Amino acid sequence: MSLHFNVSACVRATSKFSDCTKCVDACPESIQLLDNLPSFANKTGVEAAACVGVCPTEAFSLSEFSTTEFFFSFLDSKIRLISPKFNVPCISVLSVEHLISLALASDEVITLDMSSYDETSILFEQIDARIDEANFVLSAFSDKRLESNMEKAKPSEVSKESEAKDEDNEENSRRSFLGSASLKGVVKHKMTFDEAVEADELKAFQLDSITIAKIKEKHLPDKRKILFTTLKHAGVPDAFEVLAEEDITFTSQKFVDESCTNCQICYRICPTGALSSDGKFSLIHFDAMLCVKCRLCHDVCEPDAIQLQPGFEIKEFFEPTQRTLATFNIKRCNECGNNFTYKGGEQTCPRCMVEEEEAMFLHSNALAMKAEVERVALENKKLEEGDK
Ligand code: SF4
Ligand code: SF4
Ligand code: SF4
Repeated sequence: MSLHFNVSACVRATSKFSDCTKCVDACPESIQLLDNLPSFANKTGVEAAACVGVCPTEAFSLSEFSTTEFFFSFLDSKIRLISPKFNVPCISVLSVEHLISLALASDEVITLDMSSYDETSILFEQIDARIDEANFVLSAFSDKRLESNMEKAKPSEVSKESEAKDEDNEENSRRSFLGSASLKGVVKHKMTFDEAVEADELKAFQLDSITIAKIKEKHLPDKRKILFTTLKHAGVPDAFEVLAEEDITFTSQKFVDESCTNCQICYRICPTGALSSDGKFSLIHFDAMLCVKCRLCHDVCEPDAIQLQPGFEIKEFFEPTQRTLATFNIKRCNECGNNFTYKGGEQTCPRCMVEEEEAMFLHSNALAMKAEVERVALENKKLEEGDK
């Protein structure tokens, strides 16, 4: 089994300002940053592939194991045990979203077999933290839970019955399941912003044109489509809780403060289309259910205007809304005729304003130089007249 890295899905390839180190933190011995991009260290194997489960944009995948395929085949089977001995290469390939979706979609409690892991290892800690997070988030709206088991799992718990499948039917039902996850706005965002990401910035990484074209596409990871669709089938709770921002790693809610300059970078660059604007760039929209908390928007925002909301409202899971984080007064520049974000005063865009200031500076410099030349010439003339 080998590990694949899709560079076009990595937020570090989208912007050199990205600080994402989730894969490196998950697997520091195997993954390092080289020229700002994740790179595999020599002589390291695919023992755990924790990076697959932790990457917010699904940039990593395994050659012989698909987390999406596993989601469906596991639920179709009679097994309710997830174990590296039987059905996954490592539990760490599953994200928190997968764990929540599996718990919600299963009628029986799912047990995660932790008996193969060293309790003192980083890997154990990471998997344990994901199970805790999944259970914590589940507790906000459901009585479903995941269990973890440190005792040796018994092979007899694996039912052979589930292994005979009609593969064509499975494939079709999977496609239609993911297809039904039509999140409001994704298609619109994709059409509006296909051309938006600055190719020049991407070229700084010496990426080829095919990779650059892929980066420009807004792409929602399959794990989010699975979660969204699973939530649609879960019962709506009587009351909606608010979770602390730091307790949820896979999505967020945001606000934009008054220091925003409408530089357009965050909504052009957001990989999923969670941040978006209209055709005139006169507002910033945000869909929490499309956000994968990759933090790219925060990393690229120079004035630090986009911020995480302290609490995440569980209501977003059941009644997703597109919120307007900021609106801007767009006017046409009197000098160049281009649209710009008007903040009062002269109706001149910042670029023309800078050009005007430069022109005035050059003009006053030229006048000063002319005056100096005239003064020197006058002095010379006086000296010449004195000599006579
Ligand atoms: S986006 Fe994924 S691959 Fe890229 S740095 Fe973050 S975790 Fe690693
Ligand atoms: S929030 Fe930041 S990155 Fe986004 S438009 Fe405003 S200033 Fe630019
Ligand atoms: S809104 Fe920001 S954190 Fe969320 S997916 Fe877009 S860039 Fe990433």
